[in-house]
Order: sequence, then C-alpha cells, then structure tokens
Amino acid sequence: MSASARVQIYDTTLRDGTQGEGFFLSGLDKMRIAKRLDEFGVDYIEGGWPGSNPKDIEFFKAAAKQNWSHAKVAAFGSTRRANVAVEDDPQVKLLLDAETPVITIFGKSWELQVTEVLRTTAEENQAMIRDTVRHLKGAGREVVYDAEHFFDGYKDGPEHAMATLQAAVEGGADWLILCDTNGGCLPSEIADLTRIVSEAFPDTPVGIHTHNDCELAVANAIASVDAGSTQVQGTINGYGERTGNCNLTSVIPILELKMGRKAVNDLTKMRDLSYFVDDVSNNPHFARAAFIGRTAFSHKGGMHVNAVQKLARTYEHIRPEQVGNEQFILVSELSGQSNILIKAEEMGLPLKKGSDEALNILAQVKELEQTGYSFEAAGGTLELLIRRELGHCTRPWNLDEYHCSFRQYQDRTRPVCEATVKLKVEDEEAYTVAEGHGVVNALDKALRKALVSIFPAIENVSLVDYKVRILDSEEATASKTRVLIVHTDGEATWGTVGVSDSIIEASWIALSDGIDLFLQRSRS
Ligand SMILES: [Zn+2]
Repeated sequence: MSASARVQIYDTTLRDGTQGEGFFLSGLDKMRIAKRLDEFGVDYIEGGWPGSNPKDIEFFKAAAKQNWSHAKVAAFGSTRRANVAVEDDPQVKLLLDAETPVITIFGKSWELQVTEVLRTTAEENQAMIRDTVRHLKGAGREVVYDAEHFFDGYKDGPEHAMATLQAAVEGGADWLILCDTNGGCLPSEIADLTRIVSEAFPDTPVGIHTHNDCELAVANAIASVDAGSTQVQGTINGYGERTGNCNLTSVIPILELKMGRKAVNDLTKMRDLSYFVDDVSNNPHFARAAFIGRTAFSHKGGMHVNAVQKLARTYEHIRPEQVGNEQFILVSELSGQSNILIKAEEMGLPLKKGSDEALNILAQVKELEQTGYSFEAAGGTLELLIRRELGHCTRPWNLDEYHCSFRQYQDRTRPVCEATVKLKVEDEEAYTVAEGHGVVNALDKALRKALVSIFPAIENVSLVDYKVRILDSEEATASKTRVLIVHTDGEATWGTVGVSDSIIEASWIALSDGIDLFLQRSRS
C-alpha cells in the first residue's frame, strides 16, 4: 500500500450519528445530507438500519432511485440470529430488500458478549458471521464486515477475536472494519492491533471505526491509517452516541493536508458541509471546532494580527481556504468576503471582489448574522439578498398587512389557525383569508391564494420542511426565534430563514422569501 493511496471515507452520520442525543433527522433531512455527502466525495454513505425503523426503509427506497455521482449507499444490520438459517432470518432479508450496492453487517468479536449477551457458543457465532457474509456476497453485494468490540475482544481473548475475522474472510468479506465500540482504547493499541490484523489477512483491506469517549476517536483513526487501514468510518461534526463518533471534519483534512492521502473530491467544501449538517439537524455550530469552526482561524491579539497579516504561516497551521474556511481578523471590515464571492459564483450571480455590491452584501450578511441569521441551510435567503443588491429583481408584490389567529374549541375539536393577507400585485389589490393547521400552514395558504391567479406556477411549489430554533435562550422572554423553511417545486429544493422576536414574523419572513425566490428565479 503506497503512502499516497486514497483512504476510503465511510460516512455514518445518517445511522450512527442519529444515535446521538439531540441529533434527529427526518426522511427529507437524510436525503438532503446524503446528496451533499455525495457531492463532497465520500465513498460510502450508510443510510440506516432497514430492520430498525420504517423511516430507514423509506430512505433506501428513495436512494435506489437517486443518481449518485460518487458515493455508494450502504445498508447496515447484524449477522443472522443464532440457530436460524440465514435464508430464514427476516432482518437479513430486509437488508437485501434495501437494494443497496453495499451491505454492512456487524458481528461479535468479544467472546464475553457471545456467551453473556447472545447466549450462544463461539462456534455458532463464527458460523453466523460466515453464513451471513457468504449469503450477502452470493446476492452480489459488496460486504463490509464491522467487527464490533474488536479491540476489547482481542485484549480479552485474541484467538476468538481473530477467529471471527477469519470467518468473515471465509465468507468473502470485502472489508474488515475494526471497531472501538466503547471508545476506550489508546492510539498505540489501535496501531498495534491494526498491524496484526493487516498482516494476518493481507488480501482483505482493513478499516477503522472509532468512538470519542476518551477524546481520541480522530487520533485513533489516524493511528490505524498509519498502521495500514485504508477505510475510515465516522460522522460529520462527530455526531454520535455518548461523546460521539470519529469526527470526519477533522480526520479528512488531517489525512489530506498532513498525511498526503487523498480522501474526498473537494476539501474546500468541507466547512459548508459542516454548517449544513448543523443547520439541517437544528444544532448550534461549535465555534472552536478544529479546521471548520468559526474561530479556527480568527485572530484577535494585536501582535498576532500584525504577524498573520504579514505572513499567515506565522500563526496558522494550514491555509484556511484549504478547508473552505476563512481568516478572520476581528477588526477588519473585509474578512468574510471570499465565502460570499464563492457562493454568488455558484448561484450564477458573480460578484467582483472588493466591488461596492460585494461589500454591501457582506455588511448586510454580517448585520443579519449578528441578529441570529444563519445562511448555510438557507442559501435561498442569501440568493435573494444578492439578487436584490444586484438590482436583478424586486419582489413582485407589496405587502400591506397580514394577520393570524389561533382558535381552540372547548369540545376538543382540532384547533384552527386563520390567516389573512392583504397585498398589491401590479396595482391589483388582493385580500385573502385561509384556515390551516398551525400558523405557517394558514399563512402559506392565504399568501398563495393572493398570488395564484397572477402567478399560476406557484401551484407547483410546496413547503416541505419547517424548523424552529430559539436563540439566546438564557434571556428567556427576550429570546429570538429562527425559522428555517424548505420549499420544493418537485425538482429543486431551496431553504430560507427568518429571525424575529415573534415566531409568526420569523415564519412569515422565511415563508414569503421562499415564494419570492421561486418567482424571481422563474422570471430570470
Ligand atoms: Zn459505532
């Protein structure tokens, strides 16, 4: 294996990541994230466990229809149960039904787990691994074998742990993945055992799956790659159960920039992907995150600022642009510009560096961010802002007023929200009323009713996601609400954001901007 060979990245944000507290993804969220992972260039996307819930089965149905440009989608599950023929195991059948090119199964490496948890014999455990891998290989799938508790199991009984890997190899496994399931191992142990396994099974590539219980998940993955692993499993931003999984947003730049190993298509997209996953899962961004954190390249102290302005290398270990981040000099009006220039370019609305328009947009973005706006999952709002500044388009209606009310009945019938919208479209006045389940639904219906006769195309637009986040929660009643809305016209999806003291106003901003952007795009 040459030192420059590509390391395969296996993302499990959608499966192991969702085991983390506070990290929830809807079916739509999972697909949005999966598409971004594919663009970014990870090699495998583990979509879920089809045996565990119907949402995961839905994801695999949608994934089977999707055209993936680089990534292979993997379904995750376990080996067959003890004393059941593999053909008769319903969980194994569901794995095949998911119709993914890759299936990942985990098996028990630790004899203690076999006798105490599975309550079967070591021989039957090995047969379960061998049979299941062989069965899935027979169906033409790439099979990744996750050796659960491998390191703990090896320390307790090396013969048994190695015999389980042997069983997977005999079944025809394409990968042996060594898992530090409890996250308690040290880099030196991980390196030693990776080496032992790579030497014992020279024809089957080895990979690493680590957890962060000792804050060592990234270090352990790196140690394993150094010792011969060619696949790293992990999650974006390290989401995962307990203290989380190996953080891909740290491990990928280390592989590429420090070790000279290719891992993804375009490392400069990494910061955006990190923010995107935070925003879609409705989590705050960790400012001090290595490489992609907001403060990862910010300089405050006078002497540091002076030095980095002369020569960035003096206080920066990499160039921030390499991971899509930026240097922030906390006094400079210009910092933050290049991110906006790149995004505008991607939207087909190119801006010139240092132009009045670019600086005005930057100032507006900074001001909005101060008040709680975040644009990563709301590219639609940023696009509107750029379009308005460039004078490309103006909103095709003038709002006079909107109003909404909430009505709860004593007889426990479902409560109803009613909304009215009064606006002018090209001197025509529209005044509409609609009822809905909830404020957003009522406002959405009333706004569409007012616009549909003039812009019939909005019939094709629907609201597919609505997320609310309370900001500055320590200030209780003074807190602000951020609303994120996603619209689709059946082909494209776009996100818009609104922030206000009132949840209704925040919702209205995101909602009306989403419709506005659709109309502006269809005009140009
Ligand atoms: Zn795990």
